[in-house]
Amino acid sequence: MGVKIAVLPGDGIGPEIVRETMKVIEVLNKKFDLQSTWQEAHVGGAGYDAAGDPLPEATLALAKASDAVLLGAVGGPKWEPLDKPLRPEAGLLRIRAALGLFANYRPTKVHDQLLSASTLKEEVVQGVDILVVRELVSGIYFGQPRGIETLPNGEKRGYNTLAYTTSEIERIARKAFEAARLRRGKVCSVDKANVLEATEYWREVVIKLHAAEYSDVELSHMYVDNAAMQLIRNPKQFDVIVTTNMFGDILSDEASMLTGSIGMLPSASIGEKFAMYEPIHGSAPDIAGQDKANPLATILSAAMMLRFSLGREDLADKVEQAVELTLNDGIRTIDLAQPGDTVVSCSGMGDAVCQRLEGLA
Ligand code: NAD
Repeated sequence: MGVKIAVLPGDGIGPEIVRETMKVIEVLNKKFDLQSTWQEAHVGGAGYDAAGDPLPEATLALAKASDAVLLGAVGGPKWEPLDKPLRPEAGLLRIRAALGLFANYRPTKVHDQLLSASTLKEEVVQGVDILVVRELVSGIYFGQPRGIETLPNGEKRGYNTLAYTTSEIERIARKAFEAARLRRGKVCSVDKANVLEATEYWREVVIKLHAAEYSDVELSHMYVDNAAMQLIRNPKQFDVIVTTNMFGDILSDEASMLTGSIGMLPSASIGEKFAMYEPIHGSAPDIAGQDKANPLATILSAAMMLRFSLGREDLADKVEQAVELTLNDGIRTIDLAQPGDTVVSCSGMGDAVCQRLEGLA
């Protein structure tokens, strides 16, 4: 029977980077013994255009009937004038919530071959290997009440709610401690416990869980403002960072720039039952349709899918190795290119990775 993948290319560069990733999956099917099948469905602006909904019912049904979901990216200027619930980004938030994907894993690994692509000094970023574990379905992005209201004096007010329950904190902290056990054994929990009660409670729950079940892991705490600074000052101090939805959103984008390009970074969003894999970047409307995008973040997301959802650690290693070999050969998309590199298109990069993957057989 094999495994079934729901493929949601989305908008902008989404279809281009997903196409290259599926070429890699095709090699794994043909040359190795992956035995996967996949089916595509619309999400984001493409979902709105096809079915009037950024998350069409059929897409969610396909996602739920699959072993894993691979998503490209959503969004673009075309859909910005729409009402908020119809915008592409609403479809993304809804699918994460509907699949219960509470844990977002964002690894940031600096590849030696790309050291010069970082805006930071080589000695600061060389060897950086951080995993940000971000809470994804609660916190201020989901808290109620929320809205924009008119006060009795006629002035308007926008407001959101930051709230976390014990079980929401425990389940994400547990994921972080477990990930740390497979890495260098260190978790840094990032909060703003000095100002926000919701994160004061976050810290209390993390400390209790650590003492009860994970005392073998080294736990530290950091305020988010300091963490933002330390990520640039001395990123090598971090192994696993666990944090709230909004802080994780911001810090993981900051961490991504340690590597030189947002086009390199994969992510996994995991719940009790379902999982979805996607690059951390957006739909890059500025380069969409030009065959220029870097597909490596999506290809590396597929490697995470092989490892976490499809039980194929062996093939995940092979895909990551093929990416390393491609970079070793100086092959780069335009976002990463330095003088002397061989600059390739999005499809050229996909082909280069496939060639090296086939060579590993
Ligand atoms: P973006 O990540 O799409 O682009 C930021 C910059 O990085 C752009 O200059 C872009 O060209 C470049 N870039 C991104 N991915 C790249 C890749 N693979 N290869 C080469 N260069 C790449 O962020 P943005 O411009 O703020 O947002 C554009 C749209 O994407 C918006 O509609 C936004 O809402 C949406 N968005 C979607 C997601 C998602 O689908 N998960 C995430 C972030 C933003």
